[in-house]
Amino acid sequence: MPDGRDPLEGPTEKCGVVGVSLADRDAARPLYYSLYALQHRGQESAGIVTHDGFQQHDHVEMGLVGDAFDEDDIESLRGSAGIGHVRYPTAGSVDKSCAQPFTVSFKSGALGLSHNGNLVNAEEVRDQLAGKGHAFTSDGDTEVIAHDLARNLLEADLVRAVKRTMGRIHGSYSLTIMHDDTVLGARDPEGNRPLCIGKLDDGYVVASESAAIDTLDGELVRDVKPGELVVLRPDGEGFDSYQLFERENTAHCFFEHVYFARPDSVIDDNLVYEVRRELGRKLWDESGIDTDVVMPVPDSGRAFASGYAEAAQESGATVEFAEGMMKNRYVGRTFIMPTQDERERAVRLKLNPIKSTVEGKTVTLIDDSIVRGTTSTQLVQLLKDCGAAEVHMRIGAPPIVAPCYMGINMATREELIAADKSVEEIREAISADSLSYLSKDAVAEALDTDRLDLCMGCVTGEYPYDIDGEETDREVERPVVADAASADD
Ligand code: AMP
Repeated sequence: MPDGRDPLEGPTEKCGVVGVSLADRDAARPLYYSLYALQHRGQESAGIVTHDGFQQHDHVEMGLVGDAFDEDDIESLRGSAGIGHVRYPTAGSVDKSCAQPFTVSFKSGALGLSHNGNLVNAEEVRDQLAGKGHAFTSDGDTEVIAHDLARNLLEADLVRAVKRTMGRIHGSYSLTIMHDDTVLGARDPEGNRPLCIGKLDDGYVVASESAAIDTLDGELVRDVKPGELVVLRPDGEGFDSYQLFERENTAHCFFEHVYFARPDSVIDDNLVYEVRRELGRKLWDESGIDTDVVMPVPDSGRAFASGYAEAAQESGATVEFAEGMMKNRYVGRTFIMPTQDERERAVRLKLNPIKSTVEGKTVTLIDDSIVRGTTSTQLVQLLKDCGAAEVHMRIGAPPIVAPCYMGINMATREELIAADKSVEEIREAISADSLSYLSKDAVAEALDTDRLDLCMGCVTGEYPYDIDGEETDREVERPVVADAASADD
């Protein structure tokens, strides 16, 4: 692990965004609580920008939400409108220059922008804007969106300006935007990353996940639709919707349901916890094996294992569900492991099997995914060291064979264990007695969605966006990055 990251944390994930507009209460505190609720989507930096009707206030810091803000910071963020962001970097460098919300002040006002996702044509847009005199301070794609929008706002009203920018950028984005004290939420035309709208007693919120709305005692209104822009009214009285783009098919990221999102969030009408349980049930149907115990990898495999065990028991299998591995929550991802020996010890620090639940038993170990194979290799070994007679691995997603360009920092092709290995070769590499993954069709069925409405790039190697050097899974129109002024309104 060259960056000293805990091997059990696996690869990295991306960002969480939120925007709040209230009648006459400061937005900073609800934004702060929302960021806590979205912390799982990014731990690198956290930030809030508010507007009090006259001026913008911002506080953006590296680190976890709890460390990034103190009481004085929250107090200083005046105004009833604001946006927030938690970041795990996937594009741009790992320092404060890329921390968000990104802000720009320009002739027609102050802009703030929070972005979850990843553009695949950022360089093209950046080069074109740079040619027109825009100076960039970061290498991130969010600054590109901010500059483009600022430029369009010089010539068009807010909704038209957003439409022009959305017509030029290509890739995955769920955005919360603040123009002076107006808060907006926008989702890319494929709806790749989640974004939803919630109602509070005295205002509205847009957030990556509904768990943030629950935290504010709000009510989930609905998902922001792919290609939709919602504008929260500054008086907190409601929101206006503009369907700016419409595609024949969406490209929701299935991996949000498998791994990223909180199980208690509802995304695109599906409760993530139920989807994971259903994936587990289908895993039993497709490749169930009647062992003494079935056990989740904590915490990622838990809902899958409970669905799997339930389906097993319904079908008459005698398998027992056991939480046979305990996680030490205090081993953070910054845990430093200078030598290989110590890295291996980190597994024992982080996860400890309850010996009596595995000793002499045949065990099915369930996880959501295998990326590099680090976790499964180490856990199979650990269970065998604790006396398990057999360890069978079941995975609630198809093999990950290709990288994600849409904002999930998974790994490169060279690092992905399934990129060039068959399932049998992977089984051998992780020393499991058997190994099965879930089929792609089962994923679409569990999500009650047509396969073509999902982004499955990481398991098919074919993407819903036009990415240099990669195949697409549909007809994709990559925008011609023309002068903004000539864009079709
Ligand atoms: P690996 O050890 O590289 O095979 O990664 C697989 C483990 O990492 C599984 O336990 C997953 O729950 C978890 N995981 C999968 N995708 C990610 C991701 N993008 N970021 C962090 N962890 C992940």
